[in-house]
Amino acid sequence: MKGMLVFENTEIAFKDRDNKSLKKAYWLFKMVGSPFLVKAGALLLKLALFLRLPVEWLLKPTVFNHFCGGETIDDCDETIHRLGKYGIMTILDYSAEGKEEEAEFEYTRRQIMDTIDKAAREKRIPYAVFKPTGLAGFYLLEKVQSGQPLSDREEEALAKARSRFECICAHGADRNVPVMIDSEESWIQDVVDGVVEDLMASYNKDRPMIYNTLQMYRHDRLSYLERSVVQSRQKRFFPAFKLVRGAYLEKERRRAGKMGYQSPVYSTRALTDKAFDEAVAILLSQIEDAAVCVATHNEISCVKAADIIHTHSIPKNHPHISFAQLLGMSDHISYNLSSAGYNVCKYVPYGPVKTVIPYLIRRAEENTSVAGQTSRELFLIKKEIGRRRG
Ligand SMILES: Cc1cc2nc3c(=O)[nH]c(=O)nc-3n(C[C@H](O)[C@H](O)[C@H](O)COP(=O)(O)OP(=O)(O)OC[C@H]3O[C@@H](n4cnc5c(N)ncnc54)[C@H](O)[C@@H]3O)c2cc1C
Repeated sequence: MKGMLVFENTEIAFKDRDNKSLKKAYWLFKMVGSPFLVKAGALLLKLALFLRLPVEWLLKPTVFNHFCGGETIDDCDETIHRLGKYGIMTILDYSAEGKEEEAEFEYTRRQIMDTIDKAAREKRIPYAVFKPTGLAGFYLLEKVQSGQPLSDREEEALAKARSRFECICAHGADRNVPVMIDSEESWIQDVVDGVVEDLMASYNKDRPMIYNTLQMYRHDRLSYLERSVVQSRQKRFFPAFKLVRGAYLEKERRRAGKMGYQSPVYSTRALTDKAFDEAVAILLSQIEDAAVCVATHNEISCVKAADIIHTHSIPKNHPHISFAQLLGMSDHISYNLSSAGYNVCKYVPYGPVKTVIPYLIRRAEENTSVAGQTSRELFLIKKEIGRRRG
């Protein structure tokens, strides 16, 4: 390979895990690899939450500790330090989503502002991030996108949500901390895109400060990207995108099937892969005037991105390029990329255990449903255990 990138080195991949934590990770991936256990576990968890049963004692020492940095920003210090020792940066991800109360949105806004302050003090935190439904009601966004008229109260709630987005981005710009905005279901995303486009146009004049997220499993995203790039040139700002494949595949298809419209996601995995790699190539080909975060656990996509970086003689640690993975997943990619000199970040989710549950369920389901992901993690962990035994 031109970029000379290999992910097989498990000594590098697991160098910050002692034998005990490696074995724990092995059992965890074995468990989440079972579709039956994950389905049953997710159902039981939802039920326990509904009945307000305590679940922390079960989740905290297992999935929570594996996939999350802690319950508070300060709890994440250990993880920030552990990753930072190997040149891996942290993106603190307050995992609130699907809230519907103004007070909850305000609380989330303050948390995100705190993560920006933390990033401003800590060089191992290069970005802040937020999820739109942590700051705005899902049903409100859905209603706006569907074109239904809003009541006065809803208009007011929408204006407040917009000003929360604005307030966070202004704070990020003030503290020189770029902000990434996650993407969610397609039936609220147009509204979010509209707001983020305005924010990019305001804050990305001199440097990439606001990143939108493109889910490349959507078949309209390549043309959206091309349009965005043209518009940003006309309006003279940096287009900046985090590229992901997308986490809501089954939900998107289910809704489209139920409501009788064409599914917004590609019909095959190969088409999603192709679109993802094309989007990476588009942004890398003009990287002096754009920015990209290649957010994936896919080895082939990382190798392809590294090849383009190599072919165009772009510095591996170019400030407009980063790779990102989720904490607890694909360490073999993060650690090997970082060891090869690329900018690498881990999303480090944090929050009270109960708040983080939807995120944890998604991770467990993803590890079960995504063909090959768990078996790949297990294969590498087993390989490293074997290597250490000699
Ligand atoms: C740092 C980071 C940030 C993220 N932020 C977001 C975010 O803001 N929004 C979001 O939605 N997700 C986000 N994700 C999650 C991301 O979308 C999932 O990790 C992703 O779904 C897995 O894709 P992959 O590239 O890692 O892996 P892969 O394992 O290579 O790909 C699996 C993905 O391919 C797609 N796929 C699989 N089968 C098919 C099929 N039959 N047809 C079409 N497509 C298919 C799906 O998207 C599936 O999840 C983020 C991930 C990371 C690492």
